[in-house]
Amino acid sequence: MSAHHHEHDCDGGHHHSQEHSSHSHHGHSHRHADQKLSWAVGINILLTVAQIIAGVFAGSLALIADALHNLSDAAAMVLALVARKISRRDADEKRTYGYKKVETLAAFTNFITLIIIGLWLGYEAFARFFNPHPIDGWIVVWVAALGIVINGGTAWLTYRESKDSHNIRAAFLHNLTDMFASVGVVVAGIVILTFGWEWVDPLITLIISVYVLWHAAQDLPGICNILIDGAPEDIHLLSVVNEMKTVNGVADVHHVHIRYIDEKSYALEAHIVAQDHVVIDDVKAAIKAKLNALNIKHSTLEFENKICSEKGCGE
Ligand SMILES: [Zn+2]
Ligand SMILES: [Zn+2]
Ligand SMILES: [Zn+2]
Ligand SMILES: [Zn+2]
Repeated sequence: MSAHHHEHDCDGGHHHSQEHSSHSHHGHSHRHADQKLSWAVGINILLTVAQIIAGVFAGSLALIADALHNLSDAAAMVLALVARKISRRDADEKRTYGYKKVETLAAFTNFITLIIIGLWLGYEAFARFFNPHPIDGWIVVWVAALGIVINGGTAWLTYRESKDSHNIRAAFLHNLTDMFASVGVVVAGIVILTFGWEWVDPLITLIISVYVLWHAAQDLPGICNILIDGAPEDIHLLSVVNEMKTVNGVADVHHVHIRYIDEKSYALEAHIVAQDHVVIDDVKAAIKAKLNALNIKHSTLEFENKICSEKGCGE
């Protein structure tokens, strides 16, 4: 007699237990990659300290810019390591959706920091154009050369891992471009030594700050979309709804929400109006099979005999 059947189910919990077994299976390679990242973090922090001290003594803003960028990279790696550990935890009574979005939150924090650094460097570079400082070109050349070696080494550390992880591949490409930033600083040092053109230093600083801001502008929109429960970028809502409507026994689909569980899996909730005299469990299983094929591994379906707005159930 009841008009509403409220159903929540996730394929009998199958996808959850599968996730767990695959996690323990790859536990070793996770730890292996983490160890390499820890080394990269330690070396990058040492480089940063050396660059900042040398930058102050040499009077070079470009060197300090390169150092601050390296420092934010090291901080980003620490955050990513910690966030990844937390995100692997199971859901509990306080965090019923699990901890996977902690990784996204960490990435968001990184990019906000990067934007602040980028803006500050741009401002300082402009100030230096009008108020040039004397620069010790030799210190700049040697310390930036050290930066090339260390960024190159970090890139090499992450290269082998980069083939099977999207995140680590991004880190590898990042380290590679950072190496070219250090090359730019070396060139600035050589130009200052050869021609005495000290304005090259703020120019290189400006280029680094634009690069940093451009990098943040590329990745921030996608991260924000995940955080505000925006629809996944590769999901087309109308075609998902149409796909669900093709299931036998479905009269209508409405009130559909799709969001990220983490960067790789999606969740959906929807109201399903069932045709008269159908077995709800069969309709539900058929819908979930369709959704599974679309990478929507978790769904909450509310079944109705009539469209709910006709009875005023609202949202
Ligand atoms: Zn579930
Ligand atoms: Zn970087
Ligand atoms: Zn409804
Ligand atoms: Zn809703």
